[in-house]
Amino acid sequence: RFITFEGGEGVGKSTQVRRLLTRLANKGIEGVRTREPGGTPKAEAIRSFILQGRSEAWGAGAEAVLFAAARLDHVNQLIGPNLEKGTWVVSDRFCDSTRAYQGLTGGVEDRLIDALEVLALDGHSPDLTIVLDMDPVIAFERVQRRAVEDGLQVTGDRFEKEEIEWHRRLRHGFLDIASANAYRCVVISAEQSEEALEEAIWDVVSSRFP
Ligand code: C5P
Repeated sequence: RFITFEGGEGVGKSTQVRRLLTRLANKGIEGVRTREPGGTPKAEAIRSFILQGRSEAWGAGAEAVLFAAARLDHVNQLIGPNLEKGTWVVSDRFCDSTRAYQGLTGGVEDRLIDALEVLALDGHSPDLTIVLDMDPVIAFERVQRRAVEDGLQVTGDRFEKEEIEWHRRLRHGFLDIASANAYRCVVISAEQSEEALEEAIWDVVSSRFP
């Protein structure tokens, strides 16, 4: 089974990916945790390149192609081989992030996104996508609170760079993607405790794959 987690910044995807894999392991189900952009050495190299801002001046179209190159390696080297041997794969972000970031907020046209998606996925569509939904104001507060607890500063990412309106558009983009792909996407409110959210996700996963 191939499960992806999607959603805006600071909604708690990484924590829930980890919690889901622990749950699966407790049931004796083998799974691998991965993420996008990244997941393999080559794809992680592309991730650093993009997140360091080195491709920013090239524009969102070129970045979409870079993300697709990373995804191609990720699918070929990690996702495909694991699924083929029956290991579950749980990814923190996948193709819907490209639609939301490069497409909706980056302005890359649908036909480029569609073409890149067909090439990079090579038939490996997620079986289930959990879209974690949260008011970006709450997400921002959460990330700041956690940074203070950990003695870190909130740096570098989109929280500093983008306006709240941008985050709202991103949120609605993910909700639109979910309703257009209702056969595989389930939206779950992330405005609940980590434990309650873990339970809600488990309900969906265990009813989808009994
Ligand atoms: O999920 P995570 O925070 O690790 O993602 C890293 C960053 O990459 C995010 O801040 C997001 O803005 C960006 N990203 C992107 N386009 C994608 C996937 C992620 O711009 N397709």
